[in-house]
Amino acid sequence: MTEALNTPFNAIVAEDVDGKPRAALKSISLNDLPDEEVLVEVAYSTLNYKDGLAVSGKGRICRSLPLICGIDLAGTVLESKNPAFTAGDKVLVNGYGLSEIHNGGYSQYQRLKAEWLVRAPAAFSLEHCMALGTAGYTAMLCVQAIQDHGIKPEDGPVLVTGAAGGVGSVAISLLSKLGYSVTAVTGRVADSSAFLRDLGASDIISRDEFIRDCKPLERETWAAAVDTVGDKLLATVLSQIKYEGLVAACGLAGGINLPSTVMPFILRGVTLRGIDSVMASQPRRQRAWDALAQLTDIAALEKIYRIEPMSKLPELAQQIIAGKIQGRVVIDVN
Ligand code: NDP
Repeated sequence: MTEALNTPFNAIVAEDVDGKPRAALKSISLNDLPDEEVLVEVAYSTLNYKDGLAVSGKGRICRSLPLICGIDLAGTVLESKNPAFTAGDKVLVNGYGLSEIHNGGYSQYQRLKAEWLVRAPAAFSLEHCMALGTAGYTAMLCVQAIQDHGIKPEDGPVLVTGAAGGVGSVAISLLSKLGYSVTAVTGRVADSSAFLRDLGASDIISRDEFIRDCKPLERETWAAAVDTVGDKLLATVLSQIKYEGLVAACGLAGGINLPSTVMPFILRGVTLRGIDSVMASQPRRQRAWDALAQLTDIAALEKIYRIEPMSKLPELAQQIIAGKIQGRVVIDVN
């Protein structure tokens, strides 16, 4: 089968151009793929914030060049040297250094380590797997951190920042499905209010208003929060968390700093829980994907994504880092 496939196919490859990474659509062959044990015919990948940084070259995401970009993928196993997988299996991969140190999902074929693969949940098509993608799986990890801390819907409202983005929008729909009252913080109140209410947000706060004049401790308001933004916004969130509440922090869309104080931690017992999707253990991944399969309403999911071709990635990368993408973008690699 491999011989039959030894014809050129498309991939988005980052290369060193005058000392800087530059990503472009290229024609490659199976010989350009790494010598890993499972060959996957990729159906879809997605656009995540980190992909925006990698494809635009604005962040040093690809640490060895040349490298195929795309931090996630969903597809069908064509060949496997590992007995855990056989031809025809539907699989997905999130993180594990794809697009950082390993070749990623913006390619019609990819070879991968068997230990990176998660079986696509039966409830989802490959398209739906990537409609959730790394953003959706990370949102689920955040929600599970809140649940594992023992925070229940009756404990109070949960705040979601970067609400109209990929992680934020999935987090809102999951939390609302679980019965939490959700407040969304967004920089795009006018454009995104209807979208956010549709996802299940009961209140919407403008980002500029939210971060104005943040004091070390403010009124205890939120039982928990999912923060995708960082910086001053995360500091403000921490100052408003209720006694023994938790913030699941996964992102840096607003910056890498955290201009906070110890006050929320030592006077209110607040927990700041870091969420990493890239190297999360297989049991943690499996638990998150199982929960996504149980909780996701496919009709609702279909309202929050659109499908785009790989050729549009350079343009889409600029848009996501400028905060201009609403919901999720699935990349059809074919
Ligand atoms: P998106 O770009 O889809 O969403 C980010 C959202 O953040 C935007 O929609 C916008 O929300 C808000 N935002 C954008 N720019 C700014 C800014 N300058 N200041 C304040 N808010 C801003 O990205 P994703 O949802 O894919 O990712 C969100 C974050 O989570 C990223 O930082 C990403 O790197 C991180 N991430 C981390 C993972 C992990 O494993 N830790 C995994 C996946 C993502 P709005 O329009 O509502 O204001």
